[in-house]
Amino acid sequence: LRMVSSQPIGNEPVSDEELRPHALDGFIGQPTLKAQLQLFLDAARKRDVPPDHILLAGPPGLGKTTLAMIVANELGVPIRVTSGPAIQHAGDLASILSSLDTGEVLFIDEIHRLPRAAEELLYIAMEDFRVDVMVGKGPGATSIPLTLPRFTVIGATTREGMLPSPLRARFGFTAHLDFYPIDELERLIDRSAGVLGVNLDEGAAAQLAMRSRGTPRIANRLLRRVRDWAIVHDLIVVRSADVKEALDLYQIDAEGLDRLDIAVLKAIVTNFNGGPVGLNNLAAMVGEESETVETVCEPYLVREGFLARTPRGRIATEKAWRHLGLVPQDDVSK
Ligand code: ADP
Repeated sequence: LRMVSSQPIGNEPVSDEELRPHALDGFIGQPTLKAQLQLFLDAARKRDVPPDHILLAGPPGLGKTTLAMIVANELGVPIRVTSGPAIQHAGDLASILSSLDTGEVLFIDEIHRLPRAAEELLYIAMEDFRVDVMVGKGPGATSIPLTLPRFTVIGATTREGMLPSPLRARFGFTAHLDFYPIDELERLIDRSAGVLGVNLDEGAAAQLAMRSRGTPRIANRLLRRVRDWAIVHDLIVVRSADVKEALDLYQIDAEGLDRLDIAVLKAIVTNFNGGPVGLNNLAAMVGEESETVETVCEPYLVREGFLARTPRGRIATEKAWRHLGLVPQDDVSK
């Protein structure tokens, strides 16, 4: 994914760890989701059984990994972390599953990218707590059923729709993470600023929140760039104007759109006269994978009203034209 592999801003390794809250209390925002999860965990604790499997869905950087770690923490159990692309063969997954202890949490990031055979093995394991282990090779190979202890899978996905329904049906609780409103981002930025030792005034926190694209990971990353700015300019207190200058330098605009967002909107407007344009054409035009455009870029652009999805393709809205400093053409549908 773009935000992991080629970070648009700065090039530090992804160092999410130091800013990750460890308890549900420290997880900012998403009040409904938190209340649901709290009840779900309390019930499991009262019944003294590992909770049902949990699916966390939503765009990158909204807190899926963080929530998985919080769940394990709250339950006081170890967490094993893997991801769809890291599991190349069903056997890789079988060996992870057969080494789990009772109650352990298995976190599978990008679970929609598990190979087919691993997917099938997983939903049997999730349902029946059993895995068939292949012993030997070739014609003499036999499969031995192995009983697993009860454990909890937490799956994370940016593309819930790509999960086959038998697998989706194995999750007892599905949480949809949504982009964060400005006030929640402000609280998150205040908390992170405390951890990082950056002194922001109120206007600065608000300015940062506005430009964070509704995304905690981006808020934290921008905050680090603002910290750099403060260090270099010997600032004791960071004000709104400082945030503006620092983030202008990194081409984060006032609505929080980054280079790829802008490239997508520009492509629709200038190359396709506002659209409609198909996803693959659009992705080719901006030199990105379709999946990145669809899962990283579009959800925010759609939510903020810059882009509309129609059966015939993507359309730039009037707001998009104006944001680019252009006047919408007459024949543009909105
Ligand atoms: P995802 O797994 O959805 O891509 P992460 O859980 O890795 O996202 O979150 C990215 C960063 O944002 C982490 O540093 C995490 O600490 C922070 N973060 C995300 N959501 C929250 C939240 N609700 N409260 C506080 N920090 C958060």
